[in-house]
Amino acid sequence: MSSHPMDPRALLRDLPAVHEVLGWPELLTHAGGGPPRWALRKAVQTVLERWRANILAGWGDATPSRSVLVGEILEETQRALQPSLRPVVNATGVVLHTNLGRAPLAQEALEAVQEVARGYSNLELELETGKRGSRYRHVLTLLCELTGAESSLVVNNNAAAVFLALRTLARGREVIVSRGELVEIGGSFRIPDILRESDAVLVEVGTTNRTHLADYERAVTSATGLLLKVHPSNYRVLGFHREVGLEDLVALGRRFSIPVMQDLGSGCLVDLAAAGLGDEPTVQRAVRSGADLVTFSGDKLLGGPQAGILVGKQAIVETIQKHPLNRAVRIDKLTLAALEATLTLYRDPRTAQERVPALALLTRDPQILKKKAARLAGALRRLLPGSFDVRVRTVSARAGGGSLPLEDLPGTAVAVRCSRMGAEEILARLRRAPVPVIARIEKDEVLLDPRTLLKGEEDLVLAAFGGLAGERGAQRGRQG
Ligand SMILES: *Cc1c(COP(=O)(O)O)cnc(C)c1O
Repeated sequence: MSSHPMDPRALLRDLPAVHEVLGWPELLTHAGGGPPRWALRKAVQTVLERWRANILAGWGDATPSRSVLVGEILEETQRALQPSLRPVVNATGVVLHTNLGRAPLAQEALEAVQEVARGYSNLELELETGKRGSRYRHVLTLLCELTGAESSLVVNNNAAAVFLALRTLARGREVIVSRGELVEIGGSFRIPDILRESDAVLVEVGTTNRTHLADYERAVTSATGLLLKVHPSNYRVLGFHREVGLEDLVALGRRFSIPVMQDLGSGCLVDLAAAGLGDEPTVQRAVRSGADLVTFSGDKLLGGPQAGILVGKQAIVETIQKHPLNRAVRIDKLTLAALEATLTLYRDPRTAQERVPALALLTRDPQILKKKAARLAGALRRLLPGSFDVRVRTVSARAGGGSLPLEDLPGTAVAVRCSRMGAEEILARLRRAPVPVIARIEKDEVLLDPRTLLKGEEDLVLAAFGGLAGERGAQRGRQG
């Protein structure tokens, strides 16, 4: 095309102008009338700019053909039309992956959100009286029945629940916490920081590995506002370890008329130990211990939407609900709809185990996982060229989301290796698929764990791997 193929300025001159490309009919007739004008313009600019940069960097020795440009522009247009927040396939095996949105919702919860989101709702209207009602009542009875608590309140997330509770119950007062429970949850949520921000004074007692009731008792003064127990969600102290049980702390609190609060973190409503899964305390047990307030997340082991749930004594919950800050961390109607539907599933624990995806994935049968891995491995072997090596491996997954930190969930994964591409590169390309696939690397192999693959997602994994080979070709062509 160009008179002097190695001269970048000549190559640049050969590139068509934006307005010229926008007039190409093959861009407009695509997909029934073509993409919106703004997306097309943006794509044309991006693609031409990329070619210009490549030429200036001395990478190309020819300008692209019209058909190559059209292909790239249409691809870029699709990218421009994609929303920023979109579904990905979780092939990591980590069930409660905070970066991937934690808990997938139950079908019942999805339907509830749709119903409520479509139009208007009785969010804050009492249908019986026509008077203004409280949004919290939609889950109040359920939460009380399921947990055995007198009352409940729901807010934006558990971090907000803890903050609001501390601010209400302990502002300007001392809060006694064991040194073994001054935890940091991922994403900069640290108990000492939250206490400081809520204007409470932290009084640390005991040591990292051992705290006794006498330690708490000695620390009680007339300025004590709260005894706080925090579930060390994402770690456990093993070996020479002692902590004070919630019952004993409650007894101490009663003696001095000081409220006792437990931040449970995960907030499990079913006994996972019965399913062979660890020592996660249930909300029911914490409530039965007599704690004045228990807080937990909606989207960890509960498997619902992001929410912070507070259950406990009526008077205390009422005070917290009336605090002006509650308005700032208010729960919205979509979350409430999803939460009510999720909690309803817990009315029958067996239904919850089957219908709440987080629970179902955590307790997946290792035999079924093995079969799924074998099927996926077979399909990948048929799909991928000889440079790929596909095997089945025994793995153990983690629950994630700061839950069940010691639990190895037994499973089987598919391990992929390629002689022409490193594991990091495969991972990066899988992330660029139309529906991105998120996998992990272990010992230089890409691991695909079927535990977290939802219905129909095996096909999306195959599509991503199929595109990976295609992308290879395109890349080579582009760079000459
Ligand atoms: C996860 C966790 C939190 C924060 O909960 P979010 O719902 O993520 O805001 C607070 N405390 C503990 C103990 C936790 O495990």
